[in-house]
Amino acid sequence: MIYVVGLGPGGAGEITPRALAALEKCDLIVGYKAYVELARPLFDKEKEFVVSAMKQERDRCEEALRLSLSGRTVGLISSGDPGIYGMAGIMLEVARGRTEVEIIPGITAASSSAAILGAPLGCDFAVISLSDLLTPWKVIEGRLRAAALADFVICIYNPASHGRPEHLSRAADILMEILPAERPAGWVRSAGRKGESCRVTTLGELKNQKIDMFCTVIIGSSATYVIDGRLVTPRGYRE
Ligand code: SAH
Repeated sequence: MIYVVGLGPGGAGEITPRALAALEKCDLIVGYKAYVELARPLFDKEKEFVVSAMKQERDRCEEALRLSLSGRTVGLISSGDPGIYGMAGIMLEVARGRTEVEIIPGITAASSSAAILGAPLGCDFAVISLSDLLTPWKVIEGRLRAAALADFVICIYNPASHGRPEHLSRAADILMEILPAERPAGWVRSAGRKGESCRVTTLGELKNQKIDMFCTVIIGSSATYVIDGRLVTPRGYRE
């Protein structure tokens, strides 16, 4: 049995009781180092953890499958929701029905970050990852343009990383071909974790700010405005 578990953004208070109960049942927990560190404090008694390197997702799933087929109950952990840029899909692809796989959702970064910034996702929104490890950059550019033209609120995951710090400023330039630089925007770093920080700003200002791989960025639609320093996208009901 493999439970693919979303830990939520990080804090012990933001993992669901269902996720916690599944992890309690596990003989061992497999995950990327940073997520194992998030999960470790959740348990009073010792748990066995299998730490794996970043970008080794397929190996991690094969290890989880091997352990499960040897009769252990395995937890495979992702931050946020495991089905959103997480481990759920690849685990199903690797397992191919050879063991039971249960997917347990979690609070994704879009939700946790939106709540910190106010209520920017109150109406239709698009989620776009700027990671071009698995998606060609041309495709990402096309999605940014399409989302801007459709007047979606745009929520950006993986805005930058060590290898590609310029992705967010390239994305902002593309969006500003269509959207005004004054468009309200915001970012959150390490939502629910130590060192959490956030800023309400504008699309044009995003380039001048230190936004790294631990941040989620939200760019408003034409309806988004700032109220008491927080972003709000009205639900859309007419008065
Ligand atoms: N499965 C995760 C997303 C993994 S992709 C989820 O559902 O949240 C990794 C990206 O998610 C990061 O680059 C960042 O953009 C975002 N992210 C994940 N956790 C975050 C947090 N605690 N605070 C802000 N952004 C976060």
